[in-house]
Amino acid sequence: MRKPIIAGNWKMYKTASEAKQFVEQVSGLVPDASKMDSVICAPSLFLPQLVVSAENSPLRIGAQTMHEAVEGAFTGEISPVQLADIGVDYVIIGHSERRQYFNETDDSVNKKVHAAFEHGLTPIVCVGETLAQRQDGNTGSVVEKQVAHALNGLSGQQVEKLVLAYEPIWAIGTGKTATAEDANEVCGIIRGKVADLYSEQTADQLRIQYGGSVKPSNIEELLGMQHIDGALVGGASLEAESFLQLLEAGN
Ligand code: PGA
Repeated sequence: MRKPIIAGNWKMYKTASEAKQFVEQVSGLVPDASKMDSVICAPSLFLPQLVVSAENSPLRIGAQTMHEAVEGAFTGEISPVQLADIGVDYVIIGHSERRQYFNETDDSVNKKVHAAFEHGLTPIVCVGETLAQRQDGNTGSVVEKQVAHALNGLSGQQVEKLVLAYEPIWAIGTGKTATAEDANEVCGIIRGKVADLYSEQTADQLRIQYGGSVKPSNIEELLGMQHIDGALVGGASLEAESFLQLLEAGN
């Protein structure tokens, strides 16, 4: 049995005081970590404060991106060492917005995944097709290629620990969710690819989230699917009440 993982991705929303208030409001109500993993991926600016606010709670804090180098002359960037040092546990890598607006490639995603493991962070690795790729019938091949590239050089043990997020680009922030069946089918393709690259056992352990307009009204159906082990949630993770409803569905 794979433990569900629900992660909020706040993107570039909230002020520091709003973020603190949110975490204080939810931290006592988050399900026990033995049942499920609950994560908030916040803007880097708030991370130290949120780690402290969530200290006595099962809620874990994640970053939304990072640089792959340990340190260096990379103005504006944050390193895995810096994240780990303040107590961040997760980092989203290769979100489609990073790939689209900040030139992240399958290659840089792979470097960042390795760097995350080297410094004790759990990567949430995002893959997903564009609408045109789906319409051309290329969803499976696009996603398989992204997965193979992202995981290149990792050990089976590492793959068992990471989280993959299948996020069809056309479903992000659009209100259009993939049907639970379609989402499950692609998550199944991802699991099959991991079985080919590693083993059935590794593929069985790997947790795969669906992301793209997940909300309290559709999460239960998505989580009921065989290959969907959680959700990466943007818009519906911004309000404490709806975030808690998402956690309840996963619990
Ligand atoms: P959304 O975003 O839930 O607002 O569609 C999901 C994501 O970008 O991770």
